[in-house]
Amino acid sequence: NRVDNPYAGVKAYVNPEWSAKAAAEPGGGAVSNQPTGVWLDRIAAIQGANGSMGLRAHLDKALEQGAGVVQLVVYDLPGRDCSALASNGELGPDDLDKYKAQFIDPIAQILGDAKYAGLRIVTVVEIDSLPNLITNAGGRPTATPDCDTMKANGNYEKGIAYALQKLGAISNVYNYLDVGHHGWIGWDDNFAPTAQLLATVAQASGSKNNVAGFITNTANYGALQEPYFTINDTVNGTSVRQSKWVDWNRYVDELSYAQAFRQELIKDGFDSGIGMLVDTSRNGWGGADRPTGPGPKTGVDAYVDGSRTDRRIHLGNWCNQAGAGLGERPKAAPAAGIDAYVWMKPPGESDGASKEIPNDEGKGFDRMCDPTYTGNPRNNNNMSGALADAPLSGHWFSAQFQELLKNANPPV
Ligand code: BGC
Repeated sequence: NRVDNPYAGVKAYVNPEWSAKAAAEPGGGAVSNQPTGVWLDRIAAIQGANGSMGLRAHLDKALEQGAGVVQLVVYDLPGRDCSALASNGELGPDDLDKYKAQFIDPIAQILGDAKYAGLRIVTVVEIDSLPNLITNAGGRPTATPDCDTMKANGNYEKGIAYALQKLGAISNVYNYLDVGHHGWIGWDDNFAPTAQLLATVAQASGSKNNVAGFITNTANYGALQEPYFTINDTVNGTSVRQSKWVDWNRYVDELSYAQAFRQELIKDGFDSGIGMLVDTSRNGWGGADRPTGPGPKTGVDAYVDGSRTDRRIHLGNWCNQAGAGLGERPKAAPAAGIDAYVWMKPPGESDGASKEIPNDEGKGFDRMCDPTYTGNPRNNNNMSGALADAPLSGHWFSAQFQELLKNANPPV
């Protein structure tokens, strides 16, 4: 018996491991009691990798905290992160059986324990994967060989359908699928196709009702709301859609994108009760460089560049972005159609190493995390905008946490 919004009226679980790292940073105590996502990012994470808490330990702790909702990210697909290297995982492209038997089944077994029946368990299922099959495969200039492989073998779709079916069978679990973010799936040639693919995969799990909702902006940096310009603005008769920054996108921020995507999903047969999550962990864009009003109306580029609070070099940049700040604090039911603003990506955890670092996690070196990199077709060959000296993805990056605190909006 699921409720309409699992976040409504209850306290969310605070991950004590993240909390301790945040609290140990100067000033970090201001946010260290915020709830963040618990990432099951490898098989060993279920029991607890390298001495850290496993899934049962987190759920037991949640009961102890009197929390009503726990947020998990289920993230170990075969051939994971096919368009980037920083979060390549432990499973090869063909390891579907291993994914099912050694990752999803044990997670489902624990979540189904009657002891946890009173918790609402949000499971964010396999971020980035399905959007990657739309934009980064199949003959597009942005395609990568790994995404072509995953599109051809169908193991992203099969793995996700299996996860939705297994987890969806547990009545206190709420599956959320990833819809990328406005700077990725906000264009006419990928918005509707992505929604359709999500509907197909959900249906393949047995029922679209295995999905409670969707998340935007996971671990990304897109502003929640651009206060100083909208997609409908024009400058001397020219639409802002023609500016370099917007580049024909239909959206300029995450809230408008999430609400529109929700309508699109309902058109594709999802229940009208679905709700959206927006990851606001690092999309604050405050601090001294934040614009305080619209840019000059001398041309669309001057106007948009002067107005936008998202100060990335290019919308396609995704790794450890310089200048970013903490965004809205986690909050239930903040706007129409939105179940919650969440901090799914734990702020302070790196997106990827800025140089090659040998490791046993399957993580590669993606040059989008290297501040000297001049880009690729997926960021239109711009500089990466990444902070220097970053550790492996998921590892604590103190300098980034400090910057996120400094540039928080709302301020901390
Ligand atoms: C990494 C995961 C990590 C997660 C949260 C991802 O980029 O690949 O290992 O758990 O970020 O920080």
